[in-house]
Amino acid sequence: MPSKYAFNVEKYKHFYKYPEQYRMTPFKIFGNLYFVGNADVGSYLIDTGDGLILIDTTYPTTRALLIQSIWEAGFRPDDVKYILHTHGHFDHFGGTRLIVSLSGAKTYLGAPDAEMFRIRPEMALISDTRYTYLELFTPDVELKDGDIITLGNTRIRAISTPGHSKGVMTYIFDVTEGRETHTAGLYGGIGVNTLCRDFIEKYDNADFRDVYLNSLEKVRNESVDIVLGNHTDQNHTNEKYKKMCDNPAEGNPFINPDEWNEFIDFAENRYNQMLLDEENGTDQI
Ligand SMILES: [Zn+2]
Repeated sequence: MPSKYAFNVEKYKHFYKYPEQYRMTPFKIFGNLYFVGNADVGSYLIDTGDGLILIDTTYPTTRALLIQSIWEAGFRPDDVKYILHTHGHFDHFGGTRLIVSLSGAKTYLGAPDAEMFRIRPEMALISDTRYTYLELFTPDVELKDGDIITLGNTRIRAISTPGHSKGVMTYIFDVTEGRETHTAGLYGGIGVNTLCRDFIEKYDNADFRDVYLNSLEKVRNESVDIVLGNHTDQNHTNEKYKKMCDNPAEGNPFINPDEWNEFIDFAENRYNQMLLDEENGTDQI
């Protein structure tokens, strides 16, 4: 019996086949920060005034949507200078090679995931999907804990938060509009699909469990007031965007100083619930 916490490729069948039905209109989150992802996975564009930084490039089958979203947001894909990756799974680097070919962008990935590409490429999880044609890429920069990435008006802190994969990187940076500045936080991967019993048996990676909670606690006290989602359900992107469109006078729903803590609590509780379910034998579908 499979674990209900495992990655379920069946659930994604429709998404893989008809990605255009999951398109989202790109929009400005705040200041120089834009959402260019789709209904499932986040992708973020930062206009640094000296070229663009793109964080994550979505699925291979949503590459065209990403390119279209960059144009529609008012930018050019060939102006992307840096591509940062939250971690080395197929749903976050599917468009990387294409955008590099258009722009010559420099690519960044957490050092442990760069190592994973070299020694355990199957852990990029490509063979678990229908994207068997997807190729890995060789990052230009292998990020370490505490690295700072700067371009134009933007300075991004990269914090190593292993667990979902060993190379998960959390990115924290300020975004500014006029005289108002807020701090955006993108936790690089909270999924427990790579920590559940089925996955650990298949990939022999029980050590991922040792670090998951520590990573969450490590960044809990960051003063983030714009929570970004690695996947859109993590920060309720769709609902916030709808609110933003329907009630523009009611303030920006993406700005919320309490949300980071709630998000960390959610991830911790879900992980602990999974352990409990496994212990009680209630983790199976
Ligand atoms: Zn992942």
